[in-house]
Amino acid sequence: MFEIRSSSIHGLGVFATRRIRTGTRIIEYIGERITSEEADRRYADDTSEHPHVLLFVVDKHTVIDAAVGGNEARFINHSCEPNCKAFTEKKRIFIYSMKTIAEGEELTYDYNLTRDGRDDEETEKRYACHCRAKTCRGTMLAPRKGRKRKITE
Ligand SMILES: [Zn+2]
Repeated sequence: MFEIRSSSIHGLGVFATRRIRTGTRIIEYIGERITSEEADRRYADDTSEHPHVLLFVVDKHTVIDAAVGGNEARFINHSCEPNCKAFTEKKRIFIYSMKTIAEGEELTYDYNLTRDGRDDEETEKRYACHCRAKTCRGTMLAPRKGRKRKITE
């Protein structure tokens, strides 16, 4: 259904090798299942290029680290205008197509990376998005919560 090759978005990407219908379960997101504390410990030194993009939150307690025992799903890139979406089913994560995907098209989903309140400009830069969608929000981080409010200086 797909192949791995280099992507204009980032590094390697996953591309459809045939037409994929809407709602197709494409792949399970596999990796080592660890606690969120272990994930924090493992990636405390957040200086490598994109350490957190391999972590997928299952629930409050469990995170999948695709750096250990991950499958092709870890190569699916982020896009702000994605054609796939990840769903949790019985504590497992599956990637589904959300529209009809043409042969040769890159598969993407919105990483929607959690913010932890300490995100500064450097973090924004590190998780910058290069998806080139018209609606690109410029970052793989989740949209900021809440509406902007005026404040005095
Ligand atoms: Zn984008």
